[in-house]
Amino acid sequence: RVRGWAEIDLDAFEWNLDRIAAAAGAGTDVMLVVKADAYGHGAVRLALCAQARGVHGFCVGTAAEAVELRRAGVSGRILLLGTLVDEEAEVVLDHGIEICVHSTDRCLHLDALARRRDSRARVHLNADTGMGRLGVPCERADVLIDALRSMSGIEVVGLMTHIAPSRGLRDEEGARQFERFGELCRTLAERGELPGLVHAANSASLFSGGARTLASLELPTRLAVRAGIAAFGMLAEGVDENSDLRPILSFSTRVVFFKDVPTGTPIGYDGTWRAERPTRVATLPVGYDDGMNWRAGNRAQVLVRGQRVPVIGRVSMDYTTIDVTDVPGVEVGDRVTVLGRQGEQSIDALELARVCGTIPYEITCNLGRRVPRVTV
Ligand code: PLP
Repeated sequence: RVRGWAEIDLDAFEWNLDRIAAAAGAGTDVMLVVKADAYGHGAVRLALCAQARGVHGFCVGTAAEAVELRRAGVSGRILLLGTLVDEEAEVVLDHGIEICVHSTDRCLHLDALARRRDSRARVHLNADTGMGRLGVPCERADVLIDALRSMSGIEVVGLMTHIAPSRGLRDEEGARQFERFGELCRTLAERGELPGLVHAANSASLFSGGARTLASLELPTRLAVRAGIAAFGMLAEGVDENSDLRPILSFSTRVVFFKDVPTGTPIGYDGTWRAERPTRVATLPVGYDDGMNWRAGNRAQVLVRGQRVPVIGRVSMDYTTIDVTDVPGVEVGDRVTVLGRQGEQSIDALELARVCGTIPYEITCNLGRRVPRVTV
């Protein structure tokens, strides 16, 4: 805990997992999305904790992330979201990683490889219900399933979609995309072609009724949800006020230097901030490389001695400056909270994202490599 450090609260994480399990309902599996190092929180530690608490599976973004989890002792289902690139195929088969598929072409390569090794690739068919970036168009999903079923190196174990609206089913378009997916599931069920696991909801969809909506179709298959951000306690406001999730990460640093400057003194690159009164400027040893968003300059606040104070001037690579004139008794070594709580005051990733014009996902994903994650 020298310059900047992140504390991960495992009790809060387990609390959130329980809220997710409750929202999913007893018959629905929970898959925890831990790609991008669990959105910057530290994937291995959280996956092992979640595995011990009965989470059914994990979703990652790359084969390397999947292997990291396997090597650390994650034994259950690991699903590589998005799309495989051909160079990842061997390693995926080696480690029993499941993958999402979108087209016959890519599967031909996988099928040939799996057959050469006398194994089978376990795949989830991604049906595009409106996201547009990946997935086979819903109306062609049955054709692709038929094609995959004729490949002896491929086993279709899942059917999924990923919906576009960030507010989930609270958005009419989100509800429509769920409906489209439900229709596809029903059609495949009637033909006896529905894969063994069906999943659609991310956090926002889960906390706006997505799991219940799929369960109400009474499909002859297992259901699952894929939750990421809710487990980390950052579900956007207005998605579900009753979700009762707790942020699990705090990001702290300390004052390393301060000085008193007269009115008119410019601070930082390009002098974008100028003292309008005699000012006590404190310097923090974290910058944008550590995850202090560059746009926080002249916009965000941090907490010192339980008070909110403004970030002044540009955030630089290794340092950030704040105005502590109104906080009596600030000393070198004082803890400064960028994300988290001090006394009555707290700042969360949603707030920081709002003032920086970004999303909370980016705030925690960008916590730098030199910031140690400490579990508490
Ligand atoms: N499913 C897919 C396909 C995703 O790409 C993601 C995250 O980006 C998730 C689920 C989890 O989303 P969230 O973190 O909003 O729960």
